[in-house]
Amino acid sequence: MVANKSMDFSVCVFCGSPEEIERDHVPPKCLFPAPAPNNLITVPSCRKCNQSFSKDEEYFRVIVSQIAEAQSHPATRKLLNEKILKSMTRRPKLATKIMSSVVPVHIYDGEKFMGTGAGFDLENQSFDRVMIKIVKGLLYHEKGIRVSEAFVVKWNVIHERIKIAARLHKALENSPVHALGDNVFEYQGYVLKGSAASFWLMRFYLGPTFYAAIFDRSKLEAQNR
Ligand SMILES: [Zn+2]
Repeated sequence: MVANKSMDFSVCVFCGSPEEIERDHVPPKCLFPAPAPNNLITVPSCRKCNQSFSKDEEYFRVIVSQIAEAQSHPATRKLLNEKILKSMTRRPKLATKIMSSVVPVHIYDGEKFMGTGAGFDLENQSFDRVMIKIVKGLLYHEKGIRVSEAFVVKWNVIHERIKIAARLHKALENSPVHALGDNVFEYQGYVLKGSAASFWLMRFYLGPTFYAAIFDRSKLEAQNR
């Protein structure tokens, strides 16, 4: 899609503040090896939000680019050699955080259990913040809608064992795939008319598919009652 030039760049997409508005990249620019492609998506962000994401984005980059399924994408090796190893040497805390995210996982080939290996635990605040940021940014980029407090963003990884319902999958499949920087990032969105309520599929480096949904908080609570 063509970026909407009339988009409102007066308030922060993430917190609604009108103070010190800058352009922030969605997904983070650090995911793209140099030279960065010229079609990256930017959204308005206040300086405070923009800066608050930078360490989380560095962490996020290591995880999504060093997932086994992403390794066939040439950008992942380039990032590891040119950026990630350096940033972990410079920031021992980042290296420690990465190491503490490694958990044992069961490896399957189809249905066949192949043994135990090392995986990344995605349930942590840094990863969560960046995923939510990306989804909010994509909705704004596509529809000019800011996610208000009335909505909540949830995400997960789709793998063979957690399949999403066929009908929803169909709706998503029919939406166009947008790709940035030689498929470093791909996304599809399905937005309910005139609302923030939407479903998203995202892939980094042609790795596993992430699924995200933006729900109306009150409807979600009514459902859980
Ligand atoms: Zn903000």
